[in-house]
Amino acid sequence: MNAPAPLALAQAEDCAPVLKERGQREVFCGLTGIIWLHRKMQDAFFLVVGSRTCAHLLQSAAGVMIFAEPRFATAIMEERDLAGLADANEELDRIVDQLLARRPEIKTLFLVGSCPSEVTKLERAKAATRLGAKHAPQVRILNYSGSGIETTFTEGEDACLASLVPVMPTLAGDAPKNLIIVGSLPDIVEDQFRRLFAELGIANVASLPERAVADLPGIGSNSSFLLAQPFLGDTAQALEERGARRLEALFPFGVEGTTSWLYAAAQEFEVDERHFDDVVRPYRERATTALAHHRERLQGRSIFFMPDSQLEVPLARFLANELGMTLTEVGTPYLHRTHMVQELAALPAGVMLSEGQDVDRQLDRVRATKPDLTVCGLGLANPLEAEGRSTKWAIELVFSPIHGFDQAGDLAELFARPLRRRDVLRV
Ligand code: SF4
Repeated sequence: MNAPAPLALAQAEDCAPVLKERGQREVFCGLTGIIWLHRKMQDAFFLVVGSRTCAHLLQSAAGVMIFAEPRFATAIMEERDLAGLADANEELDRIVDQLLARRPEIKTLFLVGSCPSEVTKLERAKAATRLGAKHAPQVRILNYSGSGIETTFTEGEDACLASLVPVMPTLAGDAPKNLIIVGSLPDIVEDQFRRLFAELGIANVASLPERAVADLPGIGSNSSFLLAQPFLGDTAQALEERGARRLEALFPFGVEGTTSWLYAAAQEFEVDERHFDDVVRPYRERATTALAHHRERLQGRSIFFMPDSQLEVPLARFLANELGMTLTEVGTPYLHRTHMVQELAALPAGVMLSEGQDVDRQLDRVRATKPDLTVCGLGLANPLEAEGRSTKWAIELVFSPIHGFDQAGDLAELFARPLRRRDVLRV
């Protein structure tokens, strides 16, 4: 295998102009990220300052946790808090004191804002500073917003990780180079990547977040980072402001994306091309074999992405290039052109891209184009299924291990399964 060929940027210009829509949206809010973030960061606690609606969202989304003592909770704001009659700060201090006294294993506490707390006078940043000074050094207290006002559900992770960047230890200018994998990955996937980096000879690798968030990676002018998720715009900016360099690559989905992602690190750490080839080839071959079986089912089938997670563009690239699917429309809540430059270049020419949402108009386009599969949020899936259309829940793609060579077949299977079910029902 040769090094991944540089992608022709001209292709990106061949994409049809991006349709920008600013109408009604159907997405979860940023609180949803707590579900996967609290599983990843095992010494962290997420305290949502919110309403009963926020508490219900978390409880129903993370219902599987009922047998364990959860590492998230909601401090519910009542109407009198919203009316400014109660001293919300005093209440919050009392709750935090109680929580930390009862749960000494907590090393980082995130105060998470929600829609109601955005519109009250409670200032989370000041509360975090005040409580942080009180509970230091045992507990670090940070804050971010998971409010559904103007954000989509993966932006909760972005806000959370961005809040960690200012407290990452500073590395000296002459410190050895280090690589930071940015984005919350399932442990099994993170371990696979670390093994691959070790085989390539890249030893100084850390993750943001680490499993123990108390162990934040160091950062300095010799740091570089690879985004594992495409929705981490604010985190990337915060890392760059601290002197780290983002390595330009496709996102690690499928054979093509994972090779490009690893190759960017290999170039940064001056790994010999032949060694890169030797290490990566068996993984590529195994993943290519796993995909061949799914390609038979998916080739030529059409897919429509509603905007939901910001994973849409890299996944569309994978489905079109490696499985032969036809992209009817690729909608994304926000198109980060700088981070997507290689992804856009790798999309088939002329693909229809849309950014933002006007849900009724977009549903009209689904009905007009009749894709074989529509990727959308939970709220839209049932009505579309009732119309006889196959759907895939976008949120499943965030909860499932889908990155890297070893997961390429499973990723394809997530799209093949609903089509197989529909084919069986038709027989
Ligand atoms: S943060 Fe806003 S959108 Fe999310 S559950 Fe709470 S009230 Fe609803």
